Formats: sequence, C-alpha cells, structure tokens
Amino acid sequence: MIDVVQLSHIVLLFFAGTLIGSFCNVVGIRIPAGKSIVMPRSSCMSCGTQLHYTELIPVLGWLLNRGRCRYCKQPVSGIYLFGELAGGFLFALLPYLIAEPRELILAYPMAALLIALTVADLKHRLIPNKLMYPALIFFFLLRLLIHPLPYYSYGLGFVLGGGSLLAVSWFFALRGKDGMGGGDIKLMALMGMIMGAKLVFICLLVSALLGSVTGSLLILAGKLEKENAYLPYGPFIAAGGLCALFFGDPLASWYMGLFH
Ligand SMILES: [Zn+2]
Repeated sequence: MIDVVQLSHIVLLFFAGTLIGSFCNVVGIRIPAGKSIVMPRSSCMSCGTQLHYTELIPVLGWLLNRGRCRYCKQPVSGIYLFGELAGGFLFALLPYLIAEPRELILAYPMAALLIALTVADLKHRLIPNKLMYPALIFFFLLRLLIHPLPYYSYGLGFVLGGGSLLAVSWFFALRGKDGMGGGDIKLMALMGMIMGAKLVFICLLVSALLGSVTGSLLILAGKLEKENAYLPYGPFIAAGGLCALFFGDPLASWYMGLFH
C-alpha cells in the first residue's frame, strides 16, 4: 500500500517534473533555432503575443485554454503538453522503475535530455549538436564516477550503439537515401555509454521495432508516403532507451530464453 507520505512525494515529483518538462520544451524548441532559452518569455507561435503567466503553468495552462491561444485562438502545438506530461510521469515514476538508487543520478538528467531531444526532433527534425556534445561530456564524467558495471561495458555500449546506426546510415547512403542523421548516431552512442553493452542492444531492438511499427501504421493511415517516407528517429531512440533502462534486464533474459 502507498501511504500518505509516499503519495505526497509522488505528487511533488510529478509537479516538479512538469516544470522541468516545460523547460525541456523551451530548450528543444529554441536551441535548434539558435534562440536564447532565457529571454524572451514564451509567446504564441501564431500571433506572437507573450503568454500570460497563467498560461505558463504546466499542463493546466494548456488544458484551461483547451490547447488554443487566448488571443488569436489558433491551436497550440500538443508538443508542449507532451513534454510537460512526460516530465511529470518520468520524474514521479523513476524512483520506482530504477532499482539501483545511485543510477537515479544519471536517470534524472537522462530523462530531461530525452524530452528536450524528442521535442527538438519532432519540431525541427534535428538533434542539435549544441545539446549532444555537452551531454556526451556530462554523462561521460558521471559514468567515470558511478559505474555498477565495469568500464569496458560502457565503452562497448558506446561503440555498439553508435556503430550500429553508423552502419545503417552507410547502408542508406549506398542506396542513395539519407535515413539516419548524425544526431541519431550520436544519441545511440550516448545511450550505449549510459546503459552499457547489454542494454543498448535492447535499446536498438526496441527503437527499431517501435519505429517500423509506427511507420507502417502511418503509411496504412495515409499520413506518410511509402516512397521517401521520413520519420524523425530520435523519439524512437528515446523511447527505446527508456524501455531498456526500465525493463531491459527482464527483457534480455526473456529474449535469451527464446534460444534455449
Ligand atoms: Zn496567438
């Protein structure tokens, strides 16, 4: 049973998570466009009116205005609501999904980074180097300090993750298509460095599965052309990474069990 103290922790973490998610939205939308993340205050994308402070309240602001600008009544992108809710749920649930407490020190910034990168990729179809390079250095330093697995596992994860997508991008390039972006390759390498060799394998599998299922459904629904279909891959890497982090060990045992 969850007691009152535990419940209040969950609610507080959820609220803090929506605020962080809201900040991640700003980072994901402004950094690829070369804008400052501090100034000016957020404004409507359609009419440019600066948002009222009540509209800046995560989740509630969006719901109260039914996803529309108060001034010009144009729809506000659902990406905002997505980033805030993802922040809320991830921050509230991480302590329950990550068994090893010290790993939370990596899991929290990783969740925030993945929200910002997902928003950037959905909005701009770009995983910006301005976020990826500092993230690679930041998580490299954290992994030097906190490493439940031996160092080589994280190094191998980095090479396997980045190398697999690099191979996919060469394969596409040989056929005259551009499939995988440099940002996707760096992000998968980062996932491998954070999670180690075994879990990055799960991340590769899950993200490929989610990407191809989503792509097929969108083609069937007529939302995506079959020829030169393009889906930003970053959100699938993010989803695959989180799945691997939360459920990777049981998934790996189940997968290995299939061959015995
Ligand atoms: Zn407006």
